[in-house]
Amino acid sequence: MSQGNSTIIVPENPTGDAIKVPVLKVFDGDGFLTRIKASELTGSPSDQSELHVAVRFAFIDAPELEQAGGREAQDFLSALIADRWVELEIRMKMDTGRIVDRHERIVGVPYLTEEYTDAEFKTSSNHSHSAAMFGGPLSVTRNIELEMVVNGWAWVLERYGPGERYMEALGDAQRHKRGIWAAQETNMPPWEFKQQKHRQKRLTEKTGTKCPVNGCAGNLLKRNGRFGAFFGCSTFPACKYTCQVAV
Ligand SMILES: [Zn+2]
Repeated sequence: MSQGNSTIIVPENPTGDAIKVPVLKVFDGDGFLTRIKASELTGSPSDQSELHVAVRFAFIDAPELEQAGGREAQDFLSALIADRWVELEIRMKMDTGRIVDRHERIVGVPYLTEEYTDAEFKTSSNHSHSAAMFGGPLSVTRNIELEMVVNGWAWVLERYGPGERYMEALGDAQRHKRGIWAAQETNMPPWEFKQQKHRQKRLTEKTGTKCPVNGCAGNLLKRNGRFGAFFGCSTFPACKYTCQVAV
């Protein structure tokens, strides 16, 4: 679904302090597991213990794994940062006043610094007299969030006030139909998807009662309809059985 191997790289340096952390496991398109010194979290240097903690990206939202593009987004992020070290710029969460959100996850923007050697730099250029630097490796720091967005694998969380570059990257990805934007009509923002899932769970309740229709393998679910609660078959719309009282 991505355009071959032409990943768009977005050079950008962290605007504030960043700490170096390992990427132990990529959960999905916008989160990973890391290991961090407790002192980094508490600010007391005497605490030498280390803890495993989930990192949630600050300004982007990738499709849920069950959504279209969810697996691809996870694969894309894995290809960028899995088993590597990233610099994490931690964002304070306003709602909790701490650096972890209400799910005890760190919220931050990950950056990846790549060292390109003189030789690598030359092979990536078409010019025989390439503009290689004089001595030393070329170091490029990349904003991984912006790369997820511009390559078409994440939405932007506007409510958290991302910089202008995020909206530009999103617009660019949409215009060029990259990643999830290739099938725009089936796209649902992940936050809406999560809301819908939550609503459906709340609206239906298992009863443990079998559907009485002959040959139907369904169970009755309690549903909250426009005219109040009723019981309906779990196989709806295949079976349209409903009743007011489950017996
Ligand atoms: Zn039924």
